[in-house]
Amino acid sequence: MSIQKKQAVIIGAGPAGLTAGIELLKIEHVDVTVLERDNVIGGLARTNEYKGYRYDIGPHHFITDSDAVMAWWLDMMADDFHPHKRYTRIHYKNHFFNYPLEPLNVIMGLSFFECIRSVLSYVRARIFPIKKPKTFQDWITNRFGSRLFDMFFKTYTEKVWGIACDKISADWAAQRIKGFSLSQAMFYAFFGRWFKKNAPRTIQDTFYYPSLGAGSFWERAAKRLTKMGGTIQLNHGVQKLEHDGARIVAVIASDAKGGQERFEADEFFSTMPLQALIHALDPLPSEEIIVAAKALQYRGLITVNLVINKDTVIPDHWLYVHEKSVRMGRIGNMNNFSLKMVADQNHTALSLEYFAFVNEPFWKLSDAELIKIGAQELEQLKLVKASDVIDGMVVKTSEAYPVYDQNYHQHVAAVLGYLKQFSNLYLMGRNGMHRYNNMDVAMLSAMHAVNELKKTLGEIKKQPVRMKQRRKGVQPSA
Ligand SMILES: Cc1cc2nc3c(=O)[nH]c(=O)nc-3n(C[C@H](O)[C@H](O)[C@H](O)COP(=O)(O)OP(=O)(O)OC[C@H]3O[C@@H](n4cnc5c(N)ncnc54)[C@H](O)[C@@H]3O)c2cc1C
Repeated sequence: MSIQKKQAVIIGAGPAGLTAGIELLKIEHVDVTVLERDNVIGGLARTNEYKGYRYDIGPHHFITDSDAVMAWWLDMMADDFHPHKRYTRIHYKNHFFNYPLEPLNVIMGLSFFECIRSVLSYVRARIFPIKKPKTFQDWITNRFGSRLFDMFFKTYTEKVWGIACDKISADWAAQRIKGFSLSQAMFYAFFGRWFKKNAPRTIQDTFYYPSLGAGSFWERAAKRLTKMGGTIQLNHGVQKLEHDGARIVAVIASDAKGGQERFEADEFFSTMPLQALIHALDPLPSEEIIVAAKALQYRGLITVNLVINKDTVIPDHWLYVHEKSVRMGRIGNMNNFSLKMVADQNHTALSLEYFAFVNEPFWKLSDAELIKIGAQELEQLKLVKASDVIDGMVVKTSEAYPVYDQNYHQHVAAVLGYLKQFSNLYLMGRNGMHRYNNMDVAMLSAMHAVNELKKTLGEIKKQPVRMKQRRKGVQPSA
């Protein structure tokens, strides 16, 4: 007797979509089709090549607390997965401060007067903490004091989000920075060498990276997926999800030739932004849900990827730029991730990160204008002369960050509550769940979604995908 295969459609070939595809193909009798809007694999974690120089969209380091994810990574790429000791600093007031903050290094970089102010504001925050911290500003001030917040958190965060820190939800700090505080920073500064194994992620300084960029990992995952029998259709942006009120019936995707293709399936896994998903539903939901979806915001990222006529510029993997006088927020130094990503070893490949909403004038600047701004700002920071910039290219990513403004929670809850009615729709990943996730957590959400399906298929009784007890901390990714 032949068993009829289940058809699964996955929207998006980023880390979550590819993980789900591979995990689904491990189940017998499931066919997988991945529909990807772009003409490349990897989503935000892709690597772009320009004349032999390779740039991630902000260098993507591989770090996780999850044994399941680490096993997955090693199974995919043990032969080309290299450990790095992270070196990251903050550029502030013409001084370089180590990141994560190290008390002694901070003291050395600040004036005596500034140190006293910082200590006093920290003591004050510990004695009189803000009760029920609601915003990012409240949350950090409670842990570091208002002076250190102003110097080391406010400017960069506001550059990234484009909204004031007292308008950003405390959820973001709670999710990203967890319990990390100045007292912990001091503890690990003095005793870290003995306790590093259990240190928060902020303190952990080893990560993995493939020699040809984060995207090469996901290109390999895509090859594995097709080898296992799955299909990936590039240039297929999903525009409509047809439903009958209880189940998704089919999706309609545009193709590269301007036509449309309809894909029927039994199960649908989505990593497309929640806002776009709601707008694509056919029929549309009630006005209330549409309004909630419209209220979700996304921050765009412009990476200005430069070739510098010097073999070294900075020793860092990432340099956070807290100077208010320049617009850039962070510099990724591709040479320090892998020299294989640099066509000419006499050159340095720098990726400058600029954040903007897509309706801002800055977003609309031409590539040439952006490269010029990048070169001028590097000179302003005294890192290189503008004339040392010999080439460059620009990548714009419109939905790089799901914004956590103060009301995002209620909008996401309304949208997710509505989508629950579709028993064959699984939401995964970063924009797919409006969660500020890194690759590992996006992958875990995909593994979880596949497990949910397995349960309905009776493949497993109960096999939750769980992070090992998550340690406290934040990663140095944007
Ligand atoms: C600057 C920056 C630095 C980062 N650094 C790190 C890091 O160092 N380490 C780390 O682990 N993580 C890092 N991240 C986070 C990481 O990029 C994400 O966690 C991860 O890419 C999320 O995977 P995803 O599959 O959920 O989403 P995405 O990577 O966004 O993939 C979603 C895919 O869906 C496609 N898509 C969207 N809409 C449609 C549609 N309608 N139809 C078809 N396809 C569609 C998109 O084109 C995309 O390919 C960083 C992110 C940024 C922005």
